[in-house]
Amino acid sequence: MSFSTLVSDLTYRDSTHSPRPSAPSHTASTNTARSHLSRAQSSYASTAATSVSISGSISSQLHGGYSHPLARQWQAERQLTKSMLIYPLFITDNPDECTPIPSLPGQKRLGINKLIPLLTPLIAKGLKSVILFGVPLAPTAKDALGTAADDPLGPVIAGLRLLRRAFPQLFLVADVCLCEYTSHGHCGILHDDGSLNNTLSVDRISDVALAYAEAGAHCVAPSDMNDGRIRAIKLKLIESGIAHRVVLMSYSAKFSGCLYGPFRDAAGSVPSFGDRRCYQLPPGGRGLARRAIRRDIEEGADIIMVKPASQYLDIISDAKDIGKDLPVAAYQVSGEYAMIHAAAKAGVFDLKTMAFESTEGILRAGASIVVSYFTPEFLEWLDT
Ligand SMILES: [Zn+2]
Repeated sequence: MSFSTLVSDLTYRDSTHSPRPSAPSHTASTNTARSHLSRAQSSYASTAATSVSISGSISSQLHGGYSHPLARQWQAERQLTKSMLIYPLFITDNPDECTPIPSLPGQKRLGINKLIPLLTPLIAKGLKSVILFGVPLAPTAKDALGTAADDPLGPVIAGLRLLRRAFPQLFLVADVCLCEYTSHGHCGILHDDGSLNNTLSVDRISDVALAYAEAGAHCVAPSDMNDGRIRAIKLKLIESGIAHRVVLMSYSAKFSGCLYGPFRDAAGSVPSFGDRRCYQLPPGGRGLARRAIRRDIEEGADIIMVKPASQYLDIISDAKDIGKDLPVAAYQVSGEYAMIHAAAKAGVFDLKTMAFESTEGILRAGASIVVSYFTPEFLEWLDT
């Protein structure tokens, strides 16, 4: 609406709102309304008269809408809250381990005996969810089939059982992959030529997912990127009668790149040969990501994940567009976290400000769940 149209519209409304004689109780309020309109008219008129430069649409005036601090908060379409955060945990097979991970400042590889002391204060501050990664360190823990992934005594299954007992309210997500457990470090079972055997890999990955769900995971999150694994996992959950109580979160759009470096350091999952480019998406592959997201929704995923996060805001937005009725999660990966820490340490910017800006950008793109190493800090910084 143009400025002059608005003024004439107000004039019209004023002249058409005469009080009805039969409704005296309305007269006062109508008069009040009219006097507001008159004041509005005169102020617009005086604005015009003093030639304050307002040209074009009145909707160009935005500042008033967010000048007050509370009004600024109300602008947030997706406000960061504690319940959106999932905190990654690296659990080793040495029960008393507590080793800082140099490339991930503040993060540690933990033995099972260290989990309750770490999580108790975080839960008191409002931690709602964790995602478990197994980090087997024993020399015998790795083989070509990733046999240790669903070892009932292994770190993930033992961790799930322990945490379910100790913290019944904590939502437990189990990352599902073989790369931490395979001798070659790839995310599945290989053919003799070193390429992925998709059929065997999917069969194995879905067995592992089922074992984690049966051990108490509220959510299983396959990160392996083998074709068809969402459907296979969903079918096994259905066959076992537990599909109704397990969330299936798919790492649907997982892009290859250097940002996983610190994680591989933490999880000890660097491939011994080759790389993961044949199954992780190429960084420019937006169309592929959209196809993978669509496929995983059709195969029964309950949540779609995009990884990394900040570099792929367009894909997060695509995921929200394709999966309108599904929550979208984004993994703010180790490299994103390490970069923010390094820049803050170098005095380039403030850690808290950048952590907020980065994470809120991810939410704005369409995610409503963020897997973040900043979770302990956000529990301090956020009120709710
Ligand atoms: Zn993997």
